[in-house]
Amino acid sequence: MSAYKDATNAIHAATRQTQEQENSEAIFVTSSFAYASAEEAAGKFSGDDDGNVYSRFTNPTVELFEKRLATLEKGEAAIATSSGMAALMTLAYSLLSAGDRVVCSRNIFGSTVKFFNTYTTKFGVEVVYVDATDYEAWQAAITDKTRLCYFETPSNPLYEVVDVAKVAELAHAKNALLCVDTVLATPALQNPLTQGADIVMQSATKFIDGQGRCLGGALIASQEIVDVFTAFMRSAGPCMSPFNAWVLLNGLETLSLRMKAHSASALQLAEYLEAHPKVLKVNYGGLPSHKYHQLAKQQQKDFGGLLSFELEGGRPSAWAFINSTKLMSITGNLGDSKTLVTHPATTTHGRLTDEEKAKAGITEGLIRVSVGLEDIEDIIADVEAALTQLP
Ligand SMILES: *Cc1c(COP(=O)(O)O)cnc(C)c1O
Repeated sequence: MSAYKDATNAIHAATRQTQEQENSEAIFVTSSFAYASAEEAAGKFSGDDDGNVYSRFTNPTVELFEKRLATLEKGEAAIATSSGMAALMTLAYSLLSAGDRVVCSRNIFGSTVKFFNTYTTKFGVEVVYVDATDYEAWQAAITDKTRLCYFETPSNPLYEVVDVAKVAELAHAKNALLCVDTVLATPALQNPLTQGADIVMQSATKFIDGQGRCLGGALIASQEIVDVFTAFMRSAGPCMSPFNAWVLLNGLETLSLRMKAHSASALQLAEYLEAHPKVLKVNYGGLPSHKYHQLAKQQQKDFGGLLSFELEGGRPSAWAFINSTKLMSITGNLGDSKTLVTHPATTTHGRLTDEEKAKAGITEGLIRVSVGLEDIEDIIADVEAALTQLP
C-alpha cells in the first residue's frame, strides 16, 4: 500500500524511466521482446524469470496503467483489457463454468445484458436478474450454485445506487464473488474493494480517458483472482494496446480533478432541470430529492457527471429536444470533456426487448446527459433553448 494520498498516487504510483531519462512515461509500441540467448528466452517463457514475453499479456506501458489503476482502486492487482466489454468477457469466461449461476442487477449497461443472455447462457451458465436495490430478491436469488454477483452502482442512466456491503455479505454467505461496475463513479469517487466487493470492473473508455479518444477496460481484484484473468488473457487475447494504455495512464493523472468539475456542473444542471416545468423527473444522486441520495453520499465522495431526466410526450419530445441542442454531441458515449446527449431507449439500450426496457425503467421520454467540462452557463443555456422550443 502506498503512503501517498490518492491525488499523488494518480501521478506517481507506477512510474518508470528508461535510460533516456524521460520524465513522461514512454510508450512501448512492440509486439514482442528479444533476448540475448535461447536460455534467456526459455526462462522468460516458462515464467521462471521475470520479464516481458509478448504484448498479448505483458507490455511495460500496459503494466504501468494496471499498477496505477490498482493503487487508485485500493486493489492488489489489475488487468487491462481492450474495452470494458472485453473486461466483462474476461471476467465471465475466466470464472464461470456450466451449471454456475450469475445473479445480476436488472438496470445495467445494455451490452452487459446482451453478453450475459447470449454468450454465457449458451455455455450452460444461468443468469438471473434482480432489482438492484431489492436485497431480499438478492438473497433469494443467490443459491449454492451462484458463482458471481454483478451490479452497477451508480447505474446508467437512472442513477440507482446499490449498497455494496449488503450485497457483498449476501454473496459471501454462499461463497459467491461480487463484481461491481463503477464506471460512472470511477476510482476517484468510490472504491468498492474497500466496501466488500471482490472485483471492480472499469470501462476506461469513459471518465478515465475523459476525452472520448480511445477504448479500454480493466478488472481490479486480489492478486489471486487477477492471476486467473491473466491466464485467460494469455490464451484468449482481449488485451489493451500500449498506445491506449499510455493515453489512459495520463488520464488517471487528472481524473480526480475532472470528476470534481463534472460533479459540480452536473449538480447545477440537475437543479436547473428539477425546477423546470417541462421536466417530469430528474435522476441524479446529488439531488436531495433523489431516492438514493443518502446512500450515494455515504458510499461515494461525490456524485459524478451523468444524469438523466424524463420529458412529457415520449419519443417525439425527447428527439425534438436532442435535435435542437447545439453545444452537446449526440452520441452513445459518456464521460467526455464534451457534453453528450443520448436517447437511451433507441441507442445504448436499443437492443433490449420492450419488456426488458420496461423492467429497467428505460422510457421513451428519457434523456441522458453526460455533463462535460464546458462552462456550465453555456451548457444550461443550450438545455434551456432546447426545452423552450418544446410544445
Ligand atoms: C461503456 C460502459 C461499459 C462498456 O465499456 P466499453 O469500454 O464501451 O466496452 C460497461 N459498463 C458501463 C456502465 C459503461 O458505461
